[in-house]
Amino acid sequence: MGADGAGYTVFLDRDGVINRDSPDYVTSWDQFVFLPGSLEAIVRLTRAGMAVMLITNQSAVGRGMMDVATLEDMHRNLRQAVERQGGRIDAVFYCPHHPDEGCDCRKPKPGLILEARRQYNLDLAASTMIGDSARDIECGIRAGCGRTILVRTGLHDAQAQLTTKGLHPDRVAADLAAAVDWLLGTMGKTP
Ligand SMILES: [Mg+2]
Repeated sequence: MGADGAGYTVFLDRDGVINRDSPDYVTSWDQFVFLPGSLEAIVRLTRAGMAVMLITNQSAVGRGMMDVATLEDMHRNLRQAVERQGGRIDAVFYCPHHPDEGCDCRKPKPGLILEARRQYNLDLAASTMIGDSARDIECGIRAGCGRTILVRTGLHDAQAQLTTKGLHPDRVAADLAAAVDWLLGTMGKTP
């Protein structure tokens, strides 16, 4: 990748990475609580010239707990909050399906990232997937992302699940801010 991040894409999971996750699902904007430093971390990616894309499972839609209009309103609010700070979420890809539907887009399947590649003609070798769950890391690896970073701001012990599956993220970071520190620190270095 170039020293300025141009042409580089960072895929972000949402719940447990940008905002506090909930075992009861996050189904409205008033339940959306930014994790400390996450907004600023997204702004740093934008300023580094990187595209930022949301890659998120939202099965609360398929479970009948939230309608698509509400979900898209939440994402509009999220994007506006990032823009007010000088950053940008360039695209949002979500899977609305119930796990039983057997779709191709629910992580750990790579469908959402492959759709992003198709729509934006991305080189996934020049991309990083950042998530708090084992399925985020598995999705990034299966899609062919150049790097994957696990953040430890989620609800579950993803590291143990990954070890069981024999999958290893390139980095484990305390939170999104630390993940971005590491990623930007690798710019211009190999690989
Ligand atoms: Mg998550």
